[in-house]
This record gives sequence, C-alpha cells and structure tokens, in this order.
Amino acid sequence: MTMDVEGGKRALREQWAPIVDALGYKFSPDEELVDFCLEQEVTLYGKHGIPFCPCQGLTGERDHDMRIVCPCIPWHRKHFDRMRRCWCGLFVHKDVMDPDSLPQIPEGEVD
Ligand code: SF4
Repeated sequence: MTMDVEGGKRALREQWAPIVDALGYKFSPDEELVDFCLEQEVTLYGKHGIPFCPCQGLTGERDHDMRIVCPCIPWHRKHFDRMRRCWCGLFVHKDVMDPDSLPQIPEGEVD
C-alpha cells in the first residue's frame, strides 16, 4: 500500500514528536522548513523503507547510513546540543523560538 504524502508527513510527525521530546528537542517553529523536510523524508521512506535524513547524503556504507536515520539526535547529540538544532534544522532545542538565529557549527569544531 502506498501512503499519500500528506498522510506520511502526519504519521512521521506523530511518531517522532514524543521521541524528540524525550531528548529535549521539538519540531522547528519554522513550519515551511518542517514541511519541506518531512516531504523529503516521506519520499526517502518510500524509496528505501527507512526515513533517512533529507539533508545528509547516503554513502551506501551501513555504519554511516544508519547514523543518519531520522531522528538521528542520539548519534550526534554533542554536536546538535552545541548548535541547539539538528543539521537540517528539522528539530531544535525545546526553548528555541527563533531558529534562524542558530549557527551551523562544523563537526570538527565541536570538542
Ligand atoms: S539531521 Fe535532523 S532531519 Fe536529518 S536525520 Fe538528523 S534529526 Fe533527522
């Protein structure tokens, strides 16, 4: 059965909200960005059966690729906690109201 895109986006939202909540994150208040990311993920899910990250490239190496299955926060927690957002900006720390103000910090600069 193929799920329609809107239904898929709703399902991902419902599934992920409590997971990221427990990690101290929430969906970004930037609704347009959230909508765009979720749409990409529904497509990736349709293609691979796994909701891979919409902003990170797959390499085909299992160890790498399994670390970019959304929400990948537990794998990259230190980095994301520094930025207060995930790479794509789909998720931000719960207290973030203005996601555009958050800097991207290269991984190498996170100690
Ligand atoms: S960077 Fe964000 S959108 Fe991408 S997989 Fe990780 S949590 Fe999901």
